[in-house]
Amino acid sequence: MSKYYITTPIYYVNDVPHIGHAYTTVAADVLARHYRRRGYDVFFLTGTDEHGAKIAEAAAKSGQTPKEYVDRIVERFKEAWKLLQISNDFFIRTSDPHHEAGVAAFLERLYTSGDIYKGVYEGLYCVGCEQFKTEEDLVNGVCPFHGIAPTWYSEENYFFRLSRYQDALLKALTEPSDPNHYVVNPPSRLNEVLGKVRLGLSDLSISRASLAWGVPLPFDPSQVAYVWIDALLNYVTAIGYPDDLSMFHRYWPADLHLMAKDILWFHAILWPAMLIANGLRPPREVYAHGFFTIGGQRMSKTLGNVIAPADLVARFGADAARYLLLTDFPFGTDGDFNLDNLVARYNAELANDLGNLVNRTISMVNRYCEGLVPASGPDLPPDAELKAMATAMFSQIDTALASLEFVSAADAVHAVVSRANRYVEEMAPWKLARIDRDRLASVLYNLVETERLIAVAIWAFMPTTSERILDQLGAPGQTAASWGQIAPGTRVSSQPKPLFPRIEIGADRTR
Ligand SMILES: [Zn+2]
Repeated sequence: MSKYYITTPIYYVNDVPHIGHAYTTVAADVLARHYRRRGYDVFFLTGTDEHGAKIAEAAAKSGQTPKEYVDRIVERFKEAWKLLQISNDFFIRTSDPHHEAGVAAFLERLYTSGDIYKGVYEGLYCVGCEQFKTEEDLVNGVCPFHGIAPTWYSEENYFFRLSRYQDALLKALTEPSDPNHYVVNPPSRLNEVLGKVRLGLSDLSISRASLAWGVPLPFDPSQVAYVWIDALLNYVTAIGYPDDLSMFHRYWPADLHLMAKDILWFHAILWPAMLIANGLRPPREVYAHGFFTIGGQRMSKTLGNVIAPADLVARFGADAARYLLLTDFPFGTDGDFNLDNLVARYNAELANDLGNLVNRTISMVNRYCEGLVPASGPDLPPDAELKAMATAMFSQIDTALASLEFVSAADAVHAVVSRANRYVEEMAPWKLARIDRDRLASVLYNLVETERLIAVAIWAFMPTTSERILDQLGAPGQTAASWGQIAPGTRVSSQPKPLFPRIEIGADRTR
């Protein structure tokens, strides 16, 4: 059995979850479910990044110890993921003792191999990014991601010999035969990463002297590990590194690290270098998605337009929220969410097209066939076009999701939904009921079986809707992706239950 290990970044708990976090996490969940449905041994990891100066500051502001503070905020993330039906196999927290022990063990090895040495760091540091900045990184003297001026830092701390791995990274990125080969996507991001590696890599300060909230260095407990070093290691400590190597060998290397583009450097350069330095394989693929705006504006607390996952779920329901988030614009590019447009898409694609298709089919099976799925007789073969489209849909989805094209995957399903709706109009079962009962039986069978396959195909995006459609068709658990699974005589729901109640544009159901 093939394995598939997928991760989200671990989210920084200096703030409560918003739809930026949800966007990445839902994408990872759709992929995890997709590969589970296909029989892969999936491990899906998410979690929280809980150390660092910014957390210590936020805790002090709220009058709590860092631990009390992170224990409170982490619950908000867990609640949000439950609400959005996120099916992670494990939730890692960097304050977990097992994780902290793993960080110490990893750094000890790098210290022993000479990849970590002591030096003096002086430079500009953005507390927002928890990252040192060069003049070229700044726009008008401030961090482009946080809009704040970095502060001058000077202290004795420990450095990772990142410069030593420049050639190894270049080979790993450009030569598929290299044992450390890994892929950065979308391709535009690979060019960006290659450009940075070719410019030259400086050694990186990986510890802080004046901070208590972190993992102490095993070779100098007066310093704690730099929060990014600590955070990146979650991807291996979560699967047992360093003391449960059976689990580690089962899942490592990760098949996909997913993130927004602002933290690509850490995942595509620093992390692979740390792994290679420690004799471990880099992840197979690192994928950075774009940024999005809300109604043309950048989401920010000051503008008051931050959307919580719960707001989105209150408005659309969890399934539709998941679907709309991932299918509004291509995943690898920047985009804009317009709430009225999302409502319009909800009403058109989900309420009208998919919801009505199932609704009218259940009604007709009840009205014309006493609620029992009819047989598609030997003289009346399945509708060739519908059957071909419904079964080809699965390989189209496989191809689309292999390159994280969620929009294309949804298009493949929507094409079948549209075809099935047209089929109803063309066949006019209400006329066949009076003139050709055999033909009517065949048409209804084709519809029921097509909708079962649609339900199976949408499970990764909309798990509850998928199960509700199967239940209404009398086919719970019938998830085979091949035609002809529903037995004639199966009893469908005695009346259709609406899947997607219509939403008025502009109506605000969140308050
Ligand atoms: Zn910043």
